[in-house]
Amino acid sequence: MTISFTGVPASPTRLEQLIGGKWSSSAGGEIVRNSPAHGVAVSIIPQGTAEDVDLAVAAARRRFDGGGWSDLPANRRAAIIRRAADIIVSEIDELSLIETLESGKPLWQSKAEIEGATELWYYASGQAQTVHGETFNNLGSDQLGLVLREPVGVVGLITPWNFPFFILAERLPFILAAGCTVVVKPSEHTSATTLSMGKILERAGLPEGVVNIVTGFGDPVGQAIVAHKDVDMVSFTGSTRVGRSAVMASAANLKKLSLELGGKNPVVVMPDADLDKAADGIVYGVLHNAGQCCVSGSRLLVAKDIEKALTDKVLTLMSRVNVGDPLNPGTRVGPIVNRSQLDRIMGLIGEGKAEGGDLLQGGFTLDNTEGLFVAPTVLANVKPDMKIAKEEVFGPVLAITAFSSLGEAIQIANDTDYGLSATIWSTNLDSSLALMRKIKAGRVWINTTITGGPEMPIGGYKESGLGRETGMSGVSEYTEVKSVIVDQGARTPWVI
Ligand code: NDP
Repeated sequence: MTISFTGVPASPTRLEQLIGGKWSSSAGGEIVRNSPAHGVAVSIIPQGTAEDVDLAVAAARRRFDGGGWSDLPANRRAAIIRRAADIIVSEIDELSLIETLESGKPLWQSKAEIEGATELWYYASGQAQTVHGETFNNLGSDQLGLVLREPVGVVGLITPWNFPFFILAERLPFILAAGCTVVVKPSEHTSATTLSMGKILERAGLPEGVVNIVTGFGDPVGQAIVAHKDVDMVSFTGSTRVGRSAVMASAANLKKLSLELGGKNPVVVMPDADLDKAADGIVYGVLHNAGQCCVSGSRLLVAKDIEKALTDKVLTLMSRVNVGDPLNPGTRVGPIVNRSQLDRIMGLIGEGKAEGGDLLQGGFTLDNTEGLFVAPTVLANVKPDMKIAKEEVFGPVLAITAFSSLGEAIQIANDTDYGLSATIWSTNLDSSLALMRKIKAGRVWINTTITGGPEMPIGGYKESGLGRETGMSGVSEYTEVKSVIVDQGARTPWVI
């Protein structure tokens, strides 16, 4: 299969990073980002250094300690966050194109993600004014208890390449609503829309130094943020491997951590499921974003009695999915983000076959000179202890395992170090709820998948992470709690 393209920009855009209100290059040099679909340079970003991180943290610290943000009345912070959301709405087309050129995701999908991101910015603006503490009027007539929520301080925000603008929106507006200042490090593959967000926030009236953006590699930029003594909290989204190293590095000053890490998410199809609905959901769940999705439904656990019927439907639907140029409106699945990810995916497919999995569809890369495309792939007869059933593939690869009872489905679903999400397809409310209660995962979908809204908290059990983002946790995650006791009566002397 050969892919034809509809057109890409003639030359890359040169971008600068943002430190203490100033846009600049870096002494570290530059990084060129090629479109993973088209193989041409689309952006050039500064290759930030540990010194850049020091400057950015110092700027964030000065702003946090010196006032002008965390001490503003919340309605002023809310107004800036809302104005930023309004500007995003007015620039959806431009932002979507940049997102697609850097990440490879279909343009219509980038637009949907940026629309979803504006919902998060609006929602967080409301939370700026509703986050509150508690009072205790029951400590006796002389004492009043106050529980204050205070912004945690300077936050280091490290984001990945799979949903650059959306994952930023799941965190940054909440961090700002809480009154924190921040140093952001986007993935070097997809930094452009984060830098655009910096410009948008400036235009929305954000004081300088509140948001600083240092672009570059995990080593040194990410590492310097995580280890920095003046950073009070780190929010990291990415692999469990790097998440674990962030836990170690954060020990220097015992900073607070919020981690959203990998997943190996089960999709359980019960014998009574609506197979047409389930098949479409399964194909979407594993191919969304070319499978480069932390909540990707990569493990299909299906009741033995319906295994053949469901597998046939999945294969038929999957064969109709258009893979190709993300600028083409008919494309459902774009390229893999980079060569090393593609090689990793192909390696895991190979190991799945070698360990006894039956390759029913795909298993090859598409014939294109520059683009990094992997054909949607299905492996059946996958045993729970095989590597393809255990490791996060982060590609368009479905592994099918059959089960004989509800108990076995629960056992296999939970037989993983991860606990990010799960999906259940069943028309029986009793068994769906029984399964939902037993599954150890931060998000469970019943008869739908990979959907939600700003109101719903996200995060993982087990090695899928720490803490929760968005929803009512969105702002409180970025606060410290202070207990205050006020005594108003005469003192009972301690010294007798
Ligand atoms: P990483 O975890 O390496 O990268 C995520 C972010 O962390 C990037 O901004 C990265 O920068 C940065 N980073 C890398 N090393 C460090 C470090 N030591 N300290 C601080 N920050 C660091 O993911 P990859 O991009 O390498 O992808 C590998 C695998 O991770 C995927 O195959 C997938 O399984 C998983 N993943 C999960 C995601 C999720 O949403 N849960 C998102 C992305 C990946 P840089 O890009 O410069 O290395």
